[in-house]
Amino acid sequence: MRAIRRFTVRTVLPAPLAPLAELASNLRWSWHKPTRELFESMDPLAWVASYRDPGALLGALGTERLEQLATDPEFVGRVDRAAADLRDYLARPGWYASLGADAPRAIAYFSMEFGITGALPQYSGGLGILAGDHLKSASDLAVPIVGVGLFYATGYFKQSLSRDGWQQETYPVLDPDGLPLSLLREEDGSPARVSVDLPGGRTLFAQVWKAQVGRVPLLLLDSDVEGNDEAARGITDRLYGGGGEHRLQQELLCGVGGVRALRLWSRLTGAPTPEVYHTNEGHAGFLGVERIREHVAAGLEFGEALEAVRAATVFTTHTPVPAGIDRFGRDQIELYFGSDNALPGVGVEKILALGAEDYPGGDPSVFNMAVMGLRLAQRANGVSQLHGAVSRGMFQGLWSGFDAPEVPISSITNGVHAPTWVAPEVIAMGKQYIGTELVSEGKGFEKVDQVPDEEIWRTRRVLRGRLVEDARRRLKLSWMQRGASEAELAWTRDVLDPDVLTIGFARRVPTYKRLTLMLRDPERLRALLLHPERPVQLVIAGKSHPADETGKRLIQQMVHFADDPAVRHRIVFLPNYDITMAKTLYPGCDVWLNNPLRPFEACGTSGMKSALNGGLNLSILDGWWDEWFDGGNGWAIPTADGIDDPDRRDDLEAAALYDLVENSVAARYYDRDERGLPTRWLEMVRHTLASLGPKVLASRMVQDYVQQLYVPAARAGRAATADGAAGARDLAVWKAGLRQHWDRVRVDHVESSGVGDSAQIGDVVQVRAFVTLESIRPQDVEVQVVHGRVNDADELRPSGIVPLTPAEDFGDGRHRFEGQLTLRQTGPFGYTVRVLPHHEGLATAAEVGLVANA
Ligand SMILES: *Cc1c(COP(=O)(O)O)cnc(C)c1O
Repeated sequence: MRAIRRFTVRTVLPAPLAPLAELASNLRWSWHKPTRELFESMDPLAWVASYRDPGALLGALGTERLEQLATDPEFVGRVDRAAADLRDYLARPGWYASLGADAPRAIAYFSMEFGITGALPQYSGGLGILAGDHLKSASDLAVPIVGVGLFYATGYFKQSLSRDGWQQETYPVLDPDGLPLSLLREEDGSPARVSVDLPGGRTLFAQVWKAQVGRVPLLLLDSDVEGNDEAARGITDRLYGGGGEHRLQQELLCGVGGVRALRLWSRLTGAPTPEVYHTNEGHAGFLGVERIREHVAAGLEFGEALEAVRAATVFTTHTPVPAGIDRFGRDQIELYFGSDNALPGVGVEKILALGAEDYPGGDPSVFNMAVMGLRLAQRANGVSQLHGAVSRGMFQGLWSGFDAPEVPISSITNGVHAPTWVAPEVIAMGKQYIGTELVSEGKGFEKVDQVPDEEIWRTRRVLRGRLVEDARRRLKLSWMQRGASEAELAWTRDVLDPDVLTIGFARRVPTYKRLTLMLRDPERLRALLLHPERPVQLVIAGKSHPADETGKRLIQQMVHFADDPAVRHRIVFLPNYDITMAKTLYPGCDVWLNNPLRPFEACGTSGMKSALNGGLNLSILDGWWDEWFDGGNGWAIPTADGIDDPDRRDDLEAAALYDLVENSVAARYYDRDERGLPTRWLEMVRHTLASLGPKVLASRMVQDYVQQLYVPAARAGRAATADGAAGARDLAVWKAGLRQHWDRVRVDHVESSGVGDSAQIGDVVQVRAFVTLESIRPQDVEVQVVHGRVNDADELRPSGIVPLTPAEDFGDGRHRFEGQLTLRQTGPFGYTVRVLPHHEGLATAAEVGLVANA
């Protein structure tokens, strides 16, 4: 029989236990061990059966057990102390309070996925986990962020394997009433809703769930509500489920609906309106369109509204893989934003222009969400230094006339939330030998020398042992799902060895991550696994996108290899990689392996989580590792950059990987002193913690975002919108005028004096530039000398810029600019002169995309 309606009956807690409801509903428990221990102690078995979700546990416990606990003064005391601790956490001023008064009142953070806890499976991989870590660290630092995303009825899929090792997907339906969520309600108690118009006169309604992430509210829109037709109810059915149009509808709801949800949130709670809008990847980009609509409704022209929106928007790009960028047909955008459905004052042709690939190599028929993201945000960034550089090259077409280094995309390297990802044993060790500031503030990593060798090694053994236990349990479960009987599975009890060098590899399975690189030479891998003195064991996991057959084939190859009775005690594939598995996996591995095709890993964060637990990274120099590998904190797998044949490249890089594992990694791991300790290995563990510990923290990342992007964006946003948006109006008029007349701007000729043919260091060159500006005023431009080294082809590698000052107006649109340049570099040197727009509302000189080079 099927139920015709389902709902969750909530527990009524006895009065002395009432604070448990507060503790269960604030997701701070997901990174606060004492709170989790409190819940676990209520009924350890039920805790495990409830997937370690406090809310589910309270629902599962009978009235009798609750009554019993309510009369236990010791337990009630612990509940009160935990609740007091949570209230104290929420009330503490935090780092943000130390910023000036012009720090933004509130910041909205939009993302299509959020990975906060296994109990709320609303993420697929790194992007979502990063968003979750961002909110958690923002909470710790008291940054006034509000998260905005979608609530997916089934979240992302659960992965299992067929007998033949083929990925199977299931989509268990989540019951939001049973999750740590609460519904936004109007004062009369009815669910609060937002609506978005769809083509054909349809209206899409959504209700809004709120998850409380420490201090940070996270608003999740849910289209599964009465009043929506069947199709509309299914829009938030699953994460990255459908193709084109379904995806567009999700992004429409997230962006446009998300801004409306924020307005609802402010109206219902009095929360301040965000001053900065952060778009985490292009998916949520329609938020800018909705904010343009708001400004237009308030009386601005489109171009003025665009300036107001840009000023206060931050866009983070996450993928250097073109296939990873959302692109829609222009016809789809016309359907959703055109004719009957057009937003008043926001013509569809204007929206189309925002996402147009109107640069060489672009596809004129598509609408590109990343391109729109960049055009709607005055500030943009990649997620590691290398990824920043790759992104500047990738999007250079949007700023034609500028060399890649000047493309206005900066970078902030990702980080991870230590309280979530560091194993309790490592936290305890840090507390004991270094002090509480290590755990609470991420300070003191340099003192890791104070921890004795024995202590580090003992802890690593505990963590490895826990992973081995967990892997055995998961493997057995997987084999039972694959159709094996319990009796056949005795061997799974002895899989893996808590004393063998353990290498982990877990990630999503797009091709560029090269899950099967290690299988390039299967005999070589077998020899490493079965080495008589220095064996290696591998724990592998990863989900493939359901529509990605290639990825599924890679998983199957891996599973087939690991199924072989000759090696299955040394290599396991564990299905259903998720946060819960990850929390045991990272700390349990001695080495974390990453072998993407460089430079397609934008940052990567799993290796950071490993490092914080004393794991050593073995990785291609891509993403964060390219930036922070220092020769002593792990190993770099040499890349065969420049080799075009992908097979040959894989061969070379795999061979380098085997060599490193055998000759460096295993050799060092098994090199023991008289105490049986691998002292040189432990040196590397210490160096990893000391060198990477302070850098890989999400608290560092969030502080960088605040200081480098949020505060300047808030300032720019205020400047644009103050006094009836005078700033935005002025900037829009100015830009329009400039664009209209720029084609007449040119550098007519340049004179210099002060050096002859034999220039010496310290010499001063007088530069006079004669430029034609026609109707553009000299104060609206900057004339610059760009200087630096030149190569044999006279190509300039700029190392400095000297602005020239207006010296003479010839009255006919021509001007003379002057300045001087001091030679500070020996060797081949050159310079050029160029004219750029200049306005105090610009964040960078390249922003408008206009330049006149000599
Ligand atoms: C950290 C994490 C990721 C991201 O790891 P990458 O190194 O960026 O691939 C993916 N999934 C889970 C469950 C994680 O915890």
